[in-house]
Amino acid sequence: MIITFVQNGGGFCSGCEEMYRLRVESQFDAAHKLVGYKGKCSRIHGHTWKVEVFVVGEKLDDIGILVDFETLKERLEKITERLDHSFLNDLKEIGNPTSENISRYVFQNLKGLPKTVKLEKVRVWESTRSWCEYFE
Ligand SMILES: [Zn+2]
Repeated sequence: MIITFVQNGGGFCSGCEEMYRLRVESQFDAAHKLVGYKGKCSRIHGHTWKVEVFVVGEKLDDIGILVDFETLKERLEKITERLDHSFLNDLKEIGNPTSENISRYVFQNLKGLPKTVKLEKVRVWESTRSWCEYFE
């Protein structure tokens, strides 16, 4: 039997057959109010937001790791610690603190991950039944 290993060109899933997806999560408690919203969410209230980060890649290192989970968790927790027990409306970089804007904020602050992975998306849960994903 002849087994041939075909090396992919090196991009992210340009016709590749093997891909890996890793996910880490964190959460934070914070208050917000939605500016311009007509309804009770215009009043100050709080949530426990769950944040999930998904990365994809295809090349494992020589011990079979795509990217260290600890690296991803540290990067994510740096962001969620900044948001934890805050009033999100005070953080001007987020803009109006909707789930959409929070997920984009987290995504954009995660740039510069190890080159072996592509940041696929960030999912922010505002409640156990509602989430928003941001990806580029
Ligand atoms: Zn809310």
